[in-house]
Amino acid sequence: MHSLLIGDKRPAGSGRITVLEPALGTPMDEVASAAEADVNAAVAAAKTAFPHWSGLTAVARADLLFRFSDLVRSRAEELATLEARNVGKPIGDARWEANHVADTLRYYAGAADKFFGETIPVKKGGLDITLRDALGVVGLIVPWNFPMVIATWKLAPALACGNTVVLKPASLTPLTALRLGELALEAGLPPGVVNVIPGPGSTVGALLAAHPDVAKIGFTGETATGRAILQASAQTIKRVSLELGGKSPNVIFGDTDVAVAARHAVDSVFANAGQDCCARSRVIVERSIYPALVDAMAAAARNMKVGDPLDPATEMGPLVSAAQRERTEQYVALGTSGGARLVCGGARPERPGFFLTPAIFADARPRMRIVDEEIFGPVVAVMPFDTEEEAVALANDSIYGLSGSLWTNDMKRGLRVARAIRTGVLSVNSSSSVHLQAPFGGYRQSGLGRELGMHAMDHYSETKNIYFETNP
Ligand code: NAD
Repeated sequence: MHSLLIGDKRPAGSGRITVLEPALGTPMDEVASAAEADVNAAVAAAKTAFPHWSGLTAVARADLLFRFSDLVRSRAEELATLEARNVGKPIGDARWEANHVADTLRYYAGAADKFFGETIPVKKGGLDITLRDALGVVGLIVPWNFPMVIATWKLAPALACGNTVVLKPASLTPLTALRLGELALEAGLPPGVVNVIPGPGSTVGALLAAHPDVAKIGFTGETATGRAILQASAQTIKRVSLELGGKSPNVIFGDTDVAVAARHAVDSVFANAGQDCCARSRVIVERSIYPALVDAMAAAARNMKVGDPLDPATEMGPLVSAAQRERTEQYVALGTSGGARLVCGGARPERPGFFLTPAIFADARPRMRIVDEEIFGPVVAVMPFDTEEEAVALANDSIYGLSGSLWTNDMKRGLRVARAIRTGVLSVNSSSSVHLQAPFGGYRQSGLGRELGMHAMDHYSETKNIYFETNP
């Protein structure tokens, strides 16, 4: 059994979480579950560690974060295997993610001593400067789809800015978060700088969000949970960053190479078994290539290798849980009953575990639930358009605004449409969403604030203005 990590102590918590291996549907490990006393102890440990950690020079913090990054890279295979087994994601993806965690720590180690204030020429004649100040104790609440990646997107800038952290992983996937906490200690980060407390969101997460000694919550998860966190944070006016749900558009114009666009359309929605906030789950296709594109997508989806996450040839693993598969199956049923045409997939293969074959719905329309709602499973809705205006209107017809793609060989149109689509992240002739050095985050109900790049540093610091009178 894995215990909690509070300071350099390993408390047993108040209960146990049985962690499953979704490819088999069987137990994989056991982890302690935190109770209210553990939340208070973790926040207290982070509060005690804060003066020393925030008081180190940025260069000294950077040195320790570089060591943390190196240690993570040396354990990349171990972390990747844990994540592949616990989430069910293909080992090739998990290896990329483990190295991305090391890259993220290295980026923010490098950022620590390059994040500084200004000298401002104010009307009075003295000297006006700004300083970047750490916030204090930061609570990080993360989901199960990219557990170690999303934790590190928050942990690394938070630590670089001088904050101390209490990390709450999702109950389905707490293993890599605990391992990262252990590696932080092993790298020489002082005890209490990183604390890890698995446990239910409704208790441990909610207590963190309401805790008077927590200065900020960095959250990734469902929009409904984000709303609850905003409410809980209101009492003490906490800083809050939210990365929430998505229903991202993929707009494909008729001048695009159908085979290339179809391959990307399939990869960008079925990666991670569709459990991706950036999944391009609404494919919006110019009518001239619509039938050909639907056929090419179906052929690519049928060819996807769905299977054992630890087999390097696997392209799609199982869903994370039985509940997530059932939820996805309900949407497959809703797609058919709502009038869309199921072209392929949506069935359980003959094997144990929480597998589902990738499903493509054609002839979808707005106000169908498979078009409007985030499914978070391997289901895509394809719909035709006739004009550029209609394509933009369909792309923007969502409560979400996280990411999107657009495909065209006409760069004047590419620029026009890229500016008109209202999402925080957009890729043209590409399905990529994440560049560690560039900002990531959503418009509308997809979130508040930005992660990654130097933008994240703003969200883990206060700006202090100091005026020095030189002629009092
Ligand atoms: P979730 O909201 O159910 O859970 C996320 C985390 O919040 C978990 O650790 C959970 O225990 C905790 N939590 C639950 N209730 C809470 C409460 N009342 N107070 C505090 N914490 C609470 O989300 P999930 O099902 O784990 O993840 C899937 C969702 O995450 C999808 O909607 C997806 O789009 C979103 N997501 C967004 C991004 C992004 O960057 N925008 C990235 C990945 C996932």
